[in-house]
Amino acid sequence: MKFKPENLKIKDQRMKPFIDADEIWGFINNAKPSKERVREIIAKSLDKQRLTMEETAVLVQTTDTELIEEIKLGAKALKEKVYGQRIVLFAPLYIGNLCINKCAYCGFKSTNKAIKRITLTKDELIDQVKALEDSGQKRLILVYGEHPTYDAQFIAETVRIVYSVHSGPGEIRRVNINAAPMDIDGFRIVKDSKIGTYQIFQETYHEETYAKVHLGGIKRNYEWRLTALDRAQEAGIDDVGIGALFGLYDWRFDLMGLVRHTNHFEAVYNVGPHTISFPRIQYASHLNIDKSHIVSDEEFTRLVAILRLAVPYTGLILTARETAEIRNEILQYGVSQIDGGTNIEMGGYSKKDQTEAQDIDLEQFQINDNRSLNEIMEELIEQGYIPSFCTSCYRRGRTGEHFMEFSVPGFIKRFCQPNALLTLAEYLEDYAPEATKIRGYRLINDKLAQMEEDPSKASLEEKLQQVKEGNRDLYF
Ligand code: SAM
Ligand code: SF4
Repeated sequence: MKFKPENLKIKDQRMKPFIDADEIWGFINNAKPSKERVREIIAKSLDKQRLTMEETAVLVQTTDTELIEEIKLGAKALKEKVYGQRIVLFAPLYIGNLCINKCAYCGFKSTNKAIKRITLTKDELIDQVKALEDSGQKRLILVYGEHPTYDAQFIAETVRIVYSVHSGPGEIRRVNINAAPMDIDGFRIVKDSKIGTYQIFQETYHEETYAKVHLGGIKRNYEWRLTALDRAQEAGIDDVGIGALFGLYDWRFDLMGLVRHTNHFEAVYNVGPHTISFPRIQYASHLNIDKSHIVSDEEFTRLVAILRLAVPYTGLILTARETAEIRNEILQYGVSQIDGGTNIEMGGYSKKDQTEAQDIDLEQFQINDNRSLNEIMEELIEQGYIPSFCTSCYRRGRTGEHFMEFSVPGFIKRFCQPNALLTLAEYLEDYAPEATKIRGYRLINDKLAQMEEDPSKASLEEKLQQVKEGNRDLYF
């Protein structure tokens, strides 16, 4: 029988909607952001404790500029104290832009006749993956419109193709997914193809606004989307990513929605989401939205800092929707993953000239950071960050890695930093121009010099030597 979300009967308690707009507004409106309270909450987070909805609301309602500065400094200190200087890099790969939905904000909406509809063929997909591998990428997120063509079998097949492509020393070691919600059987099929994270953004947690911007298609069903990652969990996908599209509704409400969603996962599955994304609406072909909730740069920076403090052990993803300047600014407040060398034009990665303007009629929306992967690597290294392509936890079956980074003493020292340095060394050997290689090895040597002389340092030095000798994919 063909599955229809409108016929969905939610029998399972776990899959009941868990967002109560009055409750969220109650927290926001009752928050009293006194100096003492704000400082107490920042201190709680720095003590590695999750914030409650009430505490998050206090930060959200803080308007005193001095206290806002303290919130940002708190987020920065938490990031440095807990995560160190690693930034994980990935790239999005658009597989197909057919779509039956009518999302007011998206260039792929079914009513947009200007857009060229494309689904990559197997050969085209292989070409894209080769181009990505040739630039040094190791982690991809595959992105799909919502369409019967992109069913679970199709998605699983594209994942398998991606893993099978090897160009020179290149390989993709982790494939994440951003695609429409499925039923439990569908999620099981996709899980079997060995995906990393399944990411679905609620867009807005505010049901009334949700109805206003989703004008047709399956995505109109708010509950079907809200409970999607519960079905993923039921199917055994415990590595899930949530997100909200900022600019649709009041950012304070949607930030609280993300925290509520996180609480739901923790309460029911004992593990929070792996990542949280917070895209801001960008220009898109036939964009049709009310501009009253557009989030300013200042609010955006603040919301990322608050999220960092509220959910200290969840990965935060910042994409090339934002400009290089904003990304550089916000990185310090606790972002753990960024995309690099991004090209969201369908089939765009295999184009000879990557500096050529991208075609808005082939894109979902416009991106604002067109730096190549190597340019981003260079800048991260210059700023003292360690760019990482690490996929170790996922491949060693260490799930809940962010929680472990956060809570297991010595975890970062034993696993994360050495693995980041090993994947950086691989990149420097295989893909970096000479100047980047020199800078990159300088960073690696600086980090080695800061390490205590112990067996784990010796083991890392040995593995780094093996990378120089041509061995690949070494990790702890
Ligand atoms: N079609 C699937 C869906 O809607 O979930 C998956 C992919 S959709 C292409 C990925 C995400 O892009 C959406 O969840 C939305 O948050 C974001 N997006 C859509 N239009 C955007 C815009 N104009 N600016 C920024 N992000 C946008
Ligand atoms: Fe389709 Fe996703 Fe775009 Fe909505 S956001 S129109 S579902 S591709």
